[in-house]
Amino acid sequence: MKDLTINDAIAFDLPAVFEGRHLIAGEWVDSAETFERRSPSHDMVVSVSVKGDAAVTERAIRAARHAFDTGEWSRLSGKDRATVLLKVADLIEANVDRIALQETLESGKPISQSRAEVGGAADLWRYAAALARTMHGDSHNTLGDDMLGVVLKDPIGVVSIITPWNFPFWILSQKLPFALAAGCTVVVKPSEMTPSSTVMLGELLIEAGLPAGVCNIVLGYGAPVGSLMSTHDAVDMVTFTGSTAVGKLITQAASHTLKKVALELGGKNPQVICPDADLDSAADAVTFGVYFNVGQCCNSSSRIIVHEDIAEAFVKRVVDLSRHVKFGDPLNPDTQVGAIVTPEHTAKIDAYVKAAVADGATLELGGGALPVGGLGAQFYQPTVISNVTPDMAIAREEVFGPVLAVLTYRTLDEAIALTNDSEYGLSAGIWSENVHTCLAFARRAQAGTVWTNTWMDGYPELAFGGVKQSGQGREIGRYGFEEFLEVKSLVMRVGRSRTPWVQHGG
Ligand code: NAD
Repeated sequence: MKDLTINDAIAFDLPAVFEGRHLIAGEWVDSAETFERRSPSHDMVVSVSVKGDAAVTERAIRAARHAFDTGEWSRLSGKDRATVLLKVADLIEANVDRIALQETLESGKPISQSRAEVGGAADLWRYAAALARTMHGDSHNTLGDDMLGVVLKDPIGVVSIITPWNFPFWILSQKLPFALAAGCTVVVKPSEMTPSSTVMLGELLIEAGLPAGVCNIVLGYGAPVGSLMSTHDAVDMVTFTGSTAVGKLITQAASHTLKKVALELGGKNPQVICPDADLDSAADAVTFGVYFNVGQCCNSSSRIIVHEDIAEAFVKRVVDLSRHVKFGDPLNPDTQVGAIVTPEHTAKIDAYVKAAVADGATLELGGGALPVGGLGAQFYQPTVISNVTPDMAIAREEVFGPVLAVLTYRTLDEAIALTNDSEYGLSAGIWSENVHTCLAFARRAQAGTVWTNTWMDGYPELAFGGVKQSGQGREIGRYGFEEFLEVKSLVMRVGRSRTPWVQHGG
């Protein structure tokens, strides 16, 4: 039987190498040093970016501080802020193809997924524009005849935004429009592996009329750029998406100034498959959940917990579907699984698979890198591993690749215990036709998002984030927006009724 469905390289005219510069106070800024990004799928240089140092990061932070303090954006009306955000949304839609192509070249993800990511992000900007106009505080008209209380919502101030490589444009759009809608000014640092779509967005912000200094971009590495953005006393908040290890470093760095920290970190997200489920849909969702974005996804459903009565048949279904997933050249619009971000990461994925097999798990499909015709060798086969036990690293740690670990259960209590037996708590799902089973699971699962009979659907209206070591704070939705706001209580006396504190008989 044919093992996998492979899309060899297609003929394609690659664009010129993208040249990225910092954006500081409305100007494009150079640095003496540069760094290159090689495409993981095409093994050629696809971008050259200036490499930020501490001095340039300092300039960007100062520019954001100055722009915030002058109030040109922070005191602008919600209507005027919304007008700019809506223009950005239109410009994103007009530039989807260009941005998506660069993102695929830098990340290796399938072009169809890049297009959906970039195009879909426009909706986050539109939703944030709606929040800019509708944000409001509270009033308290019940404090007595001579008192009125008002709770004001203020922008928190200067925000550092640090993003990872796996969804560079989407994750930036989960943060930036919400911070801007609140009236904050920002410094953004994209991942050194995928800097260009952030620079392209910077071009669109200028075109949309965002005032100079409101959004500054610094290209470069965690040290010194990201670390200075986390420690600097002119920064009021850091919002970070990335690994749990770096999230912990940022929390420590930020503690010296007690700035607010919001974190979106890793996950080890299970789907529980009950015997009464619609097993065709469940198998398809499991396949999507583990291979989407080449498995390099915080929401990857990298483990499934299947009832032991149906486990063997269900795994067969998933393996069969996995053979039909289109794997190969990410520039082919038909491809569903592309390249792995770096050779080091490919080796890390493979080490997890080899360790699981050495510990007694069963390799049902895949395992190992597989060169794709006409392209580089940085492709990892869709992989399914059964007979996984809860103590194995592959069941507990974030593999971040197209690798599914299969565990089994006997009772719902056991399935919920396995779900919660993790240091992570980003998302979890269950498949059952019984609404009571779904609700019992949803109430007891320790996760920021629970899906029942679906996987990875998200909406700008619904908050996203994790519990336990998957993060702190929330993004998107009203809750995500509130993260960028400070609360100020205003107490006002009405009339001349105040009783003097000091009684002086004369
Ligand atoms: P990473 O933590 O290595 O890097 C993320 C960003 O942090 C990059 O821009 C990097 O340059 C910067 N950085 C590195 N060291 C730093 C430091 N000391 N101080 C400040 N910044 C620093 O993560 P990654 O490999 O780019 O992304 C993969 C990880 O991101 C996975 O663990 C994944 O689960 C997680 N992720 C989480 C979510 C979510 O919403 N929960 C979404 C996507 C990715």
